[in-house]
Amino acid sequence: MSQDDMHSSGAGAQTEARAYVLANFDRALREGHIKVSFQPIVRSFTKKFCNSEALARWEAPDFNGNLRPDFFVRVLEEAHLVHKLDLFVLVEVARVLRYELDNDIPAVPISVNFSRLDFILADIPEAVARVVEEYDLPPHLICIEITETALIDDPAPLRGAIDTLRATGFQVWLDDFGTGYSSLNVLKDFGLDEVKLDIEFLRDYGEQSQRAIAAIVSMAHELGLHTLAEGVETAEQAEFLVSIGCEKMQGYFFARPMYLDAAVDYPEQRAIAVETPREERLFTGMKPVNMISDDALSLALYDSEAYRIVYANAAYKRGIRAAGFRSLEYLNERLSSDPEPAYERYRRTAQAAIRDGRSALIFLEGGRYMRLAMESLSQTDGMALLKARLIELDRDTLDNLALFDRQARNFMSLYDGVYYVRAKEERVEVIRSVMPEYTAGDTLPFDREAIGEFSAVRVHPRDRARFQRFMRLGHLTELAEVSPRNEATSMFRMRRPDGSYRWMVFDAMLLDNETEGDLLIAERENPLSNMDELGEILGEYGRGSEPADAGASSTPREPSPGN
Ligand code: C2E
Ligand code: CA
Ligand code: CA
Repeated sequence: MSQDDMHSSGAGAQTEARAYVLANFDRALREGHIKVSFQPIVRSFTKKFCNSEALARWEAPDFNGNLRPDFFVRVLEEAHLVHKLDLFVLVEVARVLRYELDNDIPAVPISVNFSRLDFILADIPEAVARVVEEYDLPPHLICIEITETALIDDPAPLRGAIDTLRATGFQVWLDDFGTGYSSLNVLKDFGLDEVKLDIEFLRDYGEQSQRAIAAIVSMAHELGLHTLAEGVETAEQAEFLVSIGCEKMQGYFFARPMYLDAAVDYPEQRAIAVETPREERLFTGMKPVNMISDDALSLALYDSEAYRIVYANAAYKRGIRAAGFRSLEYLNERLSSDPEPAYERYRRTAQAAIRDGRSALIFLEGGRYMRLAMESLSQTDGMALLKARLIELDRDTLDNLALFDRQARNFMSLYDGVYYVRAKEERVEVIRSVMPEYTAGDTLPFDREAIGEFSAVRVHPRDRARFQRFMRLGHLTELAEVSPRNEATSMFRMRRPDGSYRWMVFDAMLLDNETEGDLLIAERENPLSNMDELGEILGEYGRGSEPADAGASSTPREPSPGN
């Protein structure tokens, strides 16, 4: 009798197969008839091999071939033995990971399936933690798959277990999502990391299922859950899943489950790159993004000076084409190294977003004003993942912007330097500067140490201490608060690029309440410097507005070295 016969034929065969499973389970474990196979999972954005799922296999030559996993798992569940299987698989997985780490084989996190009953029959969090300790593995290399139905039927024993597992560093994935009738909203309270869309969604693939998949993926991302689609069998399905921003894919299109030997060779066999631990941290740490939007959205990966757009949704791709780029690859070639100002600005904006979390730039493209807003989603060891949103600015926005721009330009033309101080972050953004080493858009620390370092280079030695006192954030704020126009003013001799010094006036203005203590500091040349009668005026100035009496010296006591 073949396996198919066994499953399709009558109750007698079922009973016989069940009896075989129960009678031979221990022996099969002992003698190695139960094995673990590994099915690769691929990252949509990079097409790299990023995970494997461990699946149990039972070779039963004395029973006409292999037993089907869903069958023997069900039998073992009914007999309350399934935890023995799952813990066996877990230990095998731990051994494989240890083997890979010891042999410099790139290791990716492996997911292990657990039944609801496991959590009743055994202390799963404790068992997993023990295995990981025994094999000395970082916990993030093990992911726990729990089915949706397990969570719904009787959630109580699972809640605490999921919390403990996650607190220990294991990822918990929701398997077979979509088979039950639960809403993601309810499930997200379990604190899950990732949702696996059930294989059924792709089984009868069509417009209907596309809509269902898109809805689930976008909702999962809105709820902060990562996404994986299983049962991907065709290139068309894979393309669709990538287009909606589903983060991972698993299925026969990429690979079937394989035993260890083949699994280890898989990346080389298929010439597929393996995700590095750094990339894994970056993508796992990123806040998922709902890419199903009329807005043009993209994801860019920054790694050691190089930028690469790894994902663009439909609207973003249209934008790229409208801007005259042949392809995303062509654009990617330019982004990292093309010295053209447009790409230079892209890189500056990306750098600012990496530093400050967000940044934006406005540019003119084919007669239309576009705004590219970047947000840092995740960062690790010199890598960053940036989300970019591209919108065309409408007439009203543009008019306001033009007005603001004119006013700002007028205002700024009065000053040699303009700096925006973000009080809470203790950072200062350069809006305009005469010093060649600072460019508009730079942000620098604005704490005691940074001001000390800056003044050592830029401020005349005799003014240094006073400069450091004046620029202290608390001091500036205090001065500005008590002054009638919310500003503080002082004067220092500043070093010019040519090494000479010049007296500069600094105005620090406290901005409105909404900015929570932010300051605008403007720097301009002392208007008195160019006055012929300076010496005379200063002498008079020293007298104040007292009634005139005796004459005193009218020369300034400290002529600046540069003037
Ligand atoms: P699952 O956890 O949903 O595993 C995915 C199943 O889909 C696997 O079947 C896999 O081989 C199959 N699959 C993967 N890609 C494709 C595809 O593109 N097309 C199609 N048609 N199928 C694909 P498998 O290995 O037969 O396992 C069946 C079920 O048995 C599993 O479903 C899981 O519920 C259970 N199972 C397997 N191993 C274990 C285990 O170690 N512990 C527990 N508790 N259950 C297990
Ligand atoms: Ca599974
Ligand atoms: Ca599944």
